[in-house]
Amino acid sequence: MRITTPALLLLTICHGFSSCAQTNTWNRKQAAVALTYDDALNIHLDQVIPTLDSAGFKGTFYLIGSAAPFTQRIGDWRKAAAKGHELGNHTLYHPCYGKRPGREWVKPDYDLNNYTLQRMTDEIKVNNALLEATDGKKQRTLACPCGDTKVADSSYLYAVKDHFTGIRDATPDANTVNGFGNRTIQWMAPAGNSGAELIAAVQKAMKDHALLVFVFHGVGGEHALNVSAEAHRELLQFLKKNEAQIWVAPFIDIATFMRKP
Ligand SMILES: [Zn+2]
Repeated sequence: MRITTPALLLLTICHGFSSCAQTNTWNRKQAAVALTYDDALNIHLDQVIPTLDSAGFKGTFYLIGSAAPFTQRIGDWRKAAAKGHELGNHTLYHPCYGKRPGREWVKPDYDLNNYTLQRMTDEIKVNNALLEATDGKKQRTLACPCGDTKVADSSYLYAVKDHFTGIRDATPDANTVNGFGNRTIQWMAPAGNSGAELIAAVQKAMKDHALLVFVFHGVGGEHALNVSAEAHRELLQFLKKNEAQIWVAPFIDIATFMRKP
């Protein structure tokens, strides 16, 4: 007769299965960090990806299918994907609400107020096809331009959710669609922050056993929302030094982990 203590039984069941992870651990680490970069910038290919590669980290790049740094450099994005970086969907034309303060840059043709739900979902699916033609992958995550998700009265997230492993967004609709469970998720969209401030956000995530999602745009230029290359490098150095405690991974890997029962 085999005698199994409850502790041994637990060890047996859970050994090797991340589904047994407690909700306050991240792939057996104290915290998780997703390094995400929006809007398909040349500087992501030319500066950010080489910096990530030298540190051994994989980032997530939310690409706009119509943006010149995508259409003119598809081969470079393909190489980035082959190195393990995630190519995420940031829609075909980046539609946002134009009638808001500071949104003068939104062109009327791409004002989300002028969209139909059908047009929005069609464009998101076409962008998925473009990205699949680039990296060969069928699993993908979505980042909503400007965090705007409603066309008329309905959120387009419900219409496209079956095409995505996760939505990188903190809106109530995204939370509902994602079903990530009872986990602590923190966000930082750096704009002019110092390296020390970026590191402080990571230290807070470590203390809170949280996932911290960085939403970068410009890194050393090319975007109004920008951080210096130096601040970004200091963040990566801190992450590297604390790699034993922090799980740094593409958003899709972390989303997959969070969706496991
Ligand atoms: Zn964007």
